[in-house]
Amino acid sequence: MNVVVAEHSGVCYGVKRALDLAYDAAAQYDSIQTLGPLIHNPQVVQELAERGLGLAEDVSNIQARTVVIRSHGVTPEVLDALEEQKLEVIDATCPHVLRAQRAAHDLSAQGFTVLVVGEADHPEVQGLLAWGKRGGGTVYCVSSPSDLPSTLQEPLGIVVQTTQTRELLQSILDALDARGLNYELRDTICSATNERQKAAADLAQNVDAMVVVGGKNSSNTTHLADICAQYCNKVFHVEMPSELVKQDFEGIETVGLTAGASTPDSQINAVVDCLRSW
Ligand code: SF4
Repeated sequence: MNVVVAEHSGVCYGVKRALDLAYDAAAQYDSIQTLGPLIHNPQVVQELAERGLGLAEDVSNIQARTVVIRSHGVTPEVLDALEEQKLEVIDATCPHVLRAQRAAHDLSAQGFTVLVVGEADHPEVQGLLAWGKRGGGTVYCVSSPSDLPSTLQEPLGIVVQTTQTRELLQSILDALDARGLNYELRDTICSATNERQKAAADLAQNVDAMVVVGGKNSSNTTHLADICAQYCNKVFHVEMPSELVKQDFEGIETVGLTAGASTPDSQINAVVDCLRSW
């Protein structure tokens, strides 16, 4: 069986950086926890736990002296609380997310009404909203054009969740244009997600089956599986090679493989090796 790996797949720059920082910290500190699961990948979270990097669900139940902030970033209130508790902080916030946080804060501090384009319950977006509010201005979360408040006052500033699609952003800009509203756009979309989605769609059109590797609780991995299913009628979303069933691949000549931004190379390689051995 021919196995083709998508041109863009697996851990992005920000997640790789967070993992490197976390593994180094686990080796260096005795008393250390991440604030929330470092990534949506149960095997990696388990491996980190085995290396002594525990998990605190929120600031109120931190028991360690050192805390790792994950790539999604945190609110300024959380940073304040960590400082108050005099904890050592290893900040693995992705630099792209930091840029979006600064944009939300600075636009708000300059008097703009800030529109954060993104999913309201996503931790990164909660951070962006809070950084915007810390700037002292009015901040709204907009997940679709219908979320735009009926009265909006210029000047308007727009900040975008790093993993949002350009299509959603454009639909919101179009709605603002239609209302004759001017805005300042800080385009904080990170290309990693779009690159993975486009590469998965391209590959899924040219293979007999697709395997998507990554956490079942990872929204970006699940989204990749959904995209593949639009182009290929055999899609398998697995976390580990043991979930693959050989009979499912009978008669298949070429299988494509992609992986979410929270799937390390070791997991991708294990699945590739398993498929190539059949
Ligand atoms: S998807 Fe982009 S913004 Fe998000 S962690 Fe990865 S590199 Fe950073």
